[in-house]
Amino acid sequence: MGIKVAKFGGSSLADVEQFKKVRSIVMMDEERRYIVPSAPGKRHSSDHKITDLLYLCQEHAQKGIPFGEIFELISTRYLEIVEGLGLSLDLVPILEDIREKILGGYSAEYTASRGEYLNGLILAEYLDYEFVDPADIIFFTQSGTYDAQATVQAVRETLRKVERAVIPGFYGSRPDGGIQTFSRGGSDITGAIIAQAVKADLYENWTDVSGFMMADPRIVKNPKPIKEITYKELRELAYMGANVLHEEAVFPVRQANIPINIRNTNDPEAPGTLIVPNGGNYRATGMITGIAGKKGFTVISIEKAMMNSELGFGRKLLSIIESKGISFEHMPSGIDHISLVIADNQLDGKLEDIIQDIEQQLKPDTVDITSNMALIATVGHGMANTPGISGRLFGALGKGNINVRMIAQGSGEMNIIIGVENEDFERAIKAIYYAFVD
Ligand code: ASP
Repeated sequence: MGIKVAKFGGSSLADVEQFKKVRSIVMMDEERRYIVPSAPGKRHSSDHKITDLLYLCQEHAQKGIPFGEIFELISTRYLEIVEGLGLSLDLVPILEDIREKILGGYSAEYTASRGEYLNGLILAEYLDYEFVDPADIIFFTQSGTYDAQATVQAVRETLRKVERAVIPGFYGSRPDGGIQTFSRGGSDITGAIIAQAVKADLYENWTDVSGFMMADPRIVKNPKPIKEITYKELRELAYMGANVLHEEAVFPVRQANIPINIRNTNDPEAPGTLIVPNGGNYRATGMITGIAGKKGFTVISIEKAMMNSELGFGRKLLSIIESKGISFEHMPSGIDHISLVIADNQLDGKLEDIIQDIEQQLKPDTVDITSNMALIATVGHGMANTPGISGRLFGALGKGNINVRMIAQGSGEMNIIIGVENEDFERAIKAIYYAFVD
């Protein structure tokens, strides 16, 4: 029998109905042996996440302000779930113990972790799986960094003897026994760590969308889902602003060559998105995998005759921006021309200074500044071997009368990055999308 690790996000476990869906998903496949729950999330847009309420309780306690009413909201949510599922689990003394600890000055990390802890107790009881506390198997150093080696060993040793378990997400412990959490959304990381340690065949990440879309649905109406994407492509899209998994959550499974499947708890039939180590056979409709982009860049373009034969020109240019503590995103260049694409939040009032230094040290013929630029990455690992992709892309932009101010291609030929004016951003994304998808 194979092993699947299934992580369920907060909206997948927000109330009784959602718990029922989760149970039927888990029961559908006997390989779903290790289940990692988040804390209950929002039931509707104006609802509160349990984790947020817990942080709030702790902040109140710290300032000596009563937090009983907020804690009551938390208790009620859990007790309603237990009752609605018909479980005999008695959470009252456990909730009381947590309330006292918060009152007694326990840390924000301990307090926040209780959201996952309580949800894990309920889910384990409901699924009839063993409950494994991550405080016993997921370790941090005393200074708070995740200790991969100790963790993987402990997870392996413990789970070797446990065929089916619920392991709450988001937290672990330090050598002094104190609870330590990952950053927000960190249950994704726990799931990935468990998958890596038990050498799972698949890491399933169950959420409330049917995987990633080829483009931002706020820009392109009903974009097609991405059925399969490589880790590298995902990284390109994430870097360009697509809202994807926690970077730290990808690392452990990527390292272990385990695919991730993003699935929808509310639509379990949908195949979702499969994230794979290397390109499989399937390619999303058309020949690209996805499009993502960001606004807010400035391009500094420098021209100087015979630049190509001037020794150290590039190095001097880069040391100027380095000396201002600025990093750049791209550096397209030609024989007599070089440009630097820099995010506006990096520049932060330093532009004048940089231009002055460039003029003094590099003696260029011209320095042009283009502000209000947006970058758009069209990503697809099959692009390198498919002729005609850039023709199609630039043809569509030309037809749409969109002025392309900059072009850069990743060295792996996995992406084409273009710079357009901020105001053309949405139109450009639509034009590219419809050039590849009917
Ligand atoms: N419950 C935690 C949070 O809200 C962790 C998670 O949901 O993954 O950030």
